[in-house]
Amino acid sequence: MNAEERSRLLFEVHQAGNCSHPVRLRGEMVNLATGEVSDNVLRVACKDRRRIVCPSCSYLYKADAWILVASGLLGGKGTPESVKTHPRLFVTLTAPSFGSVHTITPSGGCVSRMRSGSPSPCPHGRSLICRKRHEGSDPMLGRPLCARCFDFEGAVLWNAHVSRLWNNTVQLIRRSLADVGGVVQSKLSTVAQLNYLKVAEVQRRGLVHVHSVVRVDGPESIDVDPPSWVTTETLAKVIRESVADARALRLDGATVRWGSVLDIRDLALTSDDATKVASYVAKYSTKTTDGSKELARRFHSRRQIVGLLDDRHYRGLALAAWDLAERPAFAALHLRDHAHAFGFTGQLITKSRQYSTTFAALRSTRAQYMAGQRESDPVEGTFHFEGRGYDDPRATQLAEVLFTIHQELRQEALAARLSSNEVPEP
Ligand SMILES: [Zn+2]
Ligand SMILES: [Zn+2]
Ligand SMILES: [Zn+2]
Repeated sequence: MNAEERSRLLFEVHQAGNCSHPVRLRGEMVNLATGEVSDNVLRVACKDRRRIVCPSCSYLYKADAWILVASGLLGGKGTPESVKTHPRLFVTLTAPSFGSVHTITPSGGCVSRMRSGSPSPCPHGRSLICRKRHEGSDPMLGRPLCARCFDFEGAVLWNAHVSRLWNNTVQLIRRSLADVGGVVQSKLSTVAQLNYLKVAEVQRRGLVHVHSVVRVDGPESIDVDPPSWVTTETLAKVIRESVADARALRLDGATVRWGSVLDIRDLALTSDDATKVASYVAKYSTKTTDGSKELARRFHSRRQIVGLLDDRHYRGLALAAWDLAERPAFAALHLRDHAHAFGFTGQLITKSRQYSTTFAALRSTRAQYMAGQRESDPVEGTFHFEGRGYDDPRATQLAEVLFTIHQELRQEALAARLSSNEVPEP
């Protein structure tokens, strides 16, 4: 590569902010200082949240997700610090069982006779008991004891309806809070308001879990403290009852409910716990369904699923989604577009409007800051979408190398600040 090529590649990668697969825009640009018009190709960052797709953009997304969660717990970025004193819980809601899978129980074992409920083998002659003690990295984890017994369709349809189930749960929590406060549901906002942020995580068995930060604020504005009758204990009780009662109707008329495992943790503790929760949510926000490249994009054919997915269980789930799409009852779910997410059709991170700031606000602040860093004439332009990626495939590699170097420099700077006892910025 000659010097000219090198500097062109560096310029392109720098312009796209070290993005691996930038969006290419073509158009006319007018230099507002000189009036000069030029034909230009701009490369802008892809903003993909998934690490496997774009390390650089996913890093920024993860940082934004962290700020989004943490500011709702501790205040900051436009959210008042007084939210720290409001009842706040970290809630994990799980899917029911669609067939026994290899697991690590609290005692360290897998599926015992007690848990499987039956000492006899399944109709296919497979034992429904596993005496192994699985390591955390065991690829068997989350896989069914008998693949033929596992209800792949039920699992996919559960994933496809989990957003509705969540919505029903929130409605029930609001209704119960209003009950406790002695008002009708439509008047809840006159006494208190419920705010939340939730993130969906696909577990190893291919089912969605929902992690959520739930907070109660005062009426109308989050600056106002909630009434004294909303304690953390009241909120936990209301959530527990609502989760047990919540239901969503599947498009074929069947009912969808949460699994029996529910975890509720009090966040009225230390800021340390709050930052831990923020890191936890941020970590899940950059994953694909299973962290692999194969499940990062939509499938275009049934044959592609069979060819790409070596994992039998994941292949079974993706195929179930693909085939269910043919049934008229489920047409509205567009399951083929979501086969790579095992039927999950919702947004990964969602939140109530008042929880904290937004991704859009954080991105716009960053864009303004970056614009302020550049020393060039102001420009104006009209652009249209031309394509994705760089013309030269070496630019993608260069983007990833530059991103890694940036990360290492950041880590070193952080380590230096920590050793000099400065308080690190998140
Ligand atoms: Zn990118
Ligand atoms: Zn096992
Ligand atoms: Zn079986």
